[in-house]
Amino acid sequence: MNAFEYARAADIAEAVRLKAADPAAKFIAGGTNLIDLMKYHVEHPARLIDITRLPLRSVEPSHSGGVMIGALVPNSDLAYHPLIESRYPLLSSAILAGASAQLRNMASTGGNLLQRTRCAYFYDVATPCNKRTPGAGCSAKDGLNRNHAILGFSNACIATHPSDMCVALAALDASVHVAGPTGARIVPFAEFHRLPGDRPDLDNTLRTDEIITAIELPPQGFAANYSYLKIRDRLSYAFALVSVAAALELVGGHIQQARLALGGVAHKPWRDSAAEEALRGQAPSRDVFANAADVLLKDAKGHAHNTFKIGLARRAIIRTLTQAANATPQVQSVKTIR
Ligand code: SF4
Repeated sequence: MNAFEYARAADIAEAVRLKAADPAAKFIAGGTNLIDLMKYHVEHPARLIDITRLPLRSVEPSHSGGVMIGALVPNSDLAYHPLIESRYPLLSSAILAGASAQLRNMASTGGNLLQRTRCAYFYDVATPCNKRTPGAGCSAKDGLNRNHAILGFSNACIATHPSDMCVALAALDASVHVAGPTGARIVPFAEFHRLPGDRPDLDNTLRTDEIITAIELPPQGFAANYSYLKIRDRLSYAFALVSVAAALELVGGHIQQARLALGGVAHKPWRDSAAEEALRGQAPSRDVFANAADVLLKDAKGHAHNTFKIGLARRAIIRTLTQAANATPQVQSVKTIR
């Protein structure tokens, strides 16, 4: 780990000011990803700005009828918060599918959005990686790519986004509140994370002088018909091979509105409006769900070791939508799939 300076921000204005003065500095909150990256010499910031004292730890109703989540709320606190458990159980479930209890106790809501890919080559500084060193090449394309993307990847990078929480936030149409030297702005969740294109070093659209202050959930939480299903190599603790967040609004036995987002398959949480549209107005059935899966996966393409993910994703989508329609969501403490 490199030597670094340490500064502690007392409030949001000071955090923004410190970052604007040194855009290469890194904010540190839970540190559950950044400290690993520093130990592996992937990140070597000359300065860390400690934001753990900022007043961003509340979960409360928002003016729009939704819920506002402070960026420093620990993942565990969020998963078990009564407002989230009762109104947005899909989000609770996705959080509890991720990491370990110890990591969830430390990791912050804002930090979860900013965690970096777990592509092994990204963490191995002895190998070429375009995300770590732009222009160096991608070791995963012709290397071990079992965990890599099947959708939205580019010639420069085939990595996936590792978060579970973000898959639920994408499905729920959350928005990200950020602050910078020129003021505050709100970023729709779908526009926060990027596809790799020819700039895989950029994971998201947050500017270098900005800080995440909150995540806002809209009023509709799909609390009656939802499920989050995570398929992984070890049920105890592993990143997703494929995960699915499904949420349905059922009226008179038909799907009035559908949300479908996938994790573990792309550089960002993957939502496809055409797949959701294919569900709208239909009576829930295996054929309807299979058709939506086929729409979502029509452009999916595997690499040497991960083509199996396409079939796995299709089956996971059908299973998760079935769980959602039957109001029998996957229980994360139960290590078998219903
Ligand atoms: Fe780097 Fe992306 Fe290639 Fe992994 S997939 S080696 S993160 S460029």
